[in-house]
Amino acid sequence: MTSSHIVIEPSASPLDDERRAQILADPGFGRHFSDHMVVIEWTPDEDWHGATVKPYGPFSVDPASSVLHYAQEIFEGLKAYRHGDGSVWTFRPDANAHRFQRSAARMALPSLPVEVFIEAIEALVSVDHAWVPSGGERSLYLRPFMFASEVFLGVRPAKHVTFAVIASPAGPYFAGGVTPVSIWLSEDFTRAAPGGTGAAKCGGNYAASLVAQAEAIDNGCDQVVFLDARNQRDVEELGGMNIFFVYADGSLATPQLNGSILEGVTRSSVLELATEFGHKTDERSVTIDDWRDGVATGDIVEVFACGTAAVLTPVGTLKWRGGELSCGEEAGPVTLQIRERLLDVQYGRVGDPHGWMHRLWP
Ligand SMILES: *Cc1c(COP(=O)(O)O)cnc(C)c1O
Repeated sequence: MTSSHIVIEPSASPLDDERRAQILADPGFGRHFSDHMVVIEWTPDEDWHGATVKPYGPFSVDPASSVLHYAQEIFEGLKAYRHGDGSVWTFRPDANAHRFQRSAARMALPSLPVEVFIEAIEALVSVDHAWVPSGGERSLYLRPFMFASEVFLGVRPAKHVTFAVIASPAGPYFAGGVTPVSIWLSEDFTRAAPGGTGAAKCGGNYAASLVAQAEAIDNGCDQVVFLDARNQRDVEELGGMNIFFVYADGSLATPQLNGSILEGVTRSSVLELATEFGHKTDERSVTIDDWRDGVATGDIVEVFACGTAAVLTPVGTLKWRGGELSCGEEAGPVTLQIRERLLDVQYGRVGDPHGWMHRLWP
């Protein structure tokens, strides 16, 4: 299946320019959606078929659709960036497409070919390019997802699966400058277990993290950090972001991929950029005691979280039941250096020696 097989059914009532401009001026996150969406269906007999760009709108979901009962679902998140010349690009979509295949394999969903994943994004952004905001860390957030749409309550991998892509304009994550977030240490809940689905980008992992996230908010924190499920000792990641530690000698460490950590595209990019800036990088286990002791002794000088939505986010405070510690009042120089470079590449302000950028429009 190639893009020539994606049928375009334009919306008869796209949002008018004035209303769209209002939305793009202050889009927030995940509240507004572009005029169209891509939908592709899968069955064992027909494989992927019926690819269509159609007006954005509700699905008709049968109450017995298996996703509603057994949560066979995965998703991706990437962004479309408008460059200075008006063209629209995305960042490492092949990495997201490959991760989507790995997530699908773990959740017993069919594999969507990498080129179909990318063509679907290209088709949607071509039709809705006016929805890509410009300037100031704004972007069009792209959300590909796949779910079990078979009407069947039996427990087995679905034989009817739907893939879709929707797009939502996103404002700058930090409206008033890069400010450190506070992190709550989850001691009662884990996100992912050995042999579980932690490395897959599936809705179920998020469902499992919400109560811990709510606990974080109740304790005055912005985000939650999870430890490994077996020993409650190794730092794994936040609910939806990977974590990095910067040491006094300029080196960086991030927890090694262990099957329960989600392999972030931002994480891999940070590892490469940091090396190019001359920082030693290490993927290894960092325990919660390493974190606390490292900050106390001055060995750990910066902590940051990273992911597509927030790029790099400094961690200011770690709190737990009965204690807290400050990891920095403001964003550190290494965090800012890598953050800046990543954004410069994404917004086309510097060269792209890695070939990470992929043109979407025109
Ligand atoms: C998506 C996600 C990340 C970050 O991945 P990016 O590809 O960098 O956006 C990290 N952790 C979890 C649990 C995620 O779902």
